[in-house]
Amino acid sequence: MQLQFACPKCGRQHFVEDAEASPRVSCADCGWYREVAAESVQQDNPRRCLVCGCDDLWRQKDFPQHVGLAFVVVGAVLSTIAWAYVRPLWAIGILMAFALVDLLLFVLMPDVLVCYRCRSRHRPGRIAEHFGQFNLETAERYRQQQRRLEQAARASADR
Ligand SMILES: [Zn+2]
Ligand SMILES: [Zn+2]
Repeated sequence: MQLQFACPKCGRQHFVEDAEASPRVSCADCGWYREVAAESVQQDNPRRCLVCGCDDLWRQKDFPQHVGLAFVVVGAVLSTIAWAYVRPLWAIGILMAFALVDLLLFVLMPDVLVCYRCRSRHRPGRIAEHFGQFNLETAERYRQQQRRLEQAARASADR
């Protein structure tokens, strides 16, 4: 399973090819590490986030949203140019071709599992069925929790 995460201590991005092969996830830059219990991984799928231990992960397409958006914009611009040169068939053809490629990319792209708490991305060979799509309520719960932690940290720093 591939693992992509930002170090919780120094914030650097890391990419681990066989995360389950090592008993710990670590940062080579600042020395942070976390033990990974063998039971955290089941059939190449994480049972919880390997970086922070959070139980909730959501499934999404492993496709950067801004790339998809840029792609649509390029298609629209090319289509507008064709339209300006009075080539309506070209204009429509270009739009349809770009929409089709966009759709294909979306269908062919593999899924990735993202942690609600630390946003680490886990890429197992095949994702188990039980993982659900992004849930706003769950995300909100983690956001609130994060805020309370930050407030508590600030309060204790003031004392
Ligand atoms: Zn680090
Ligand atoms: Zn996490």
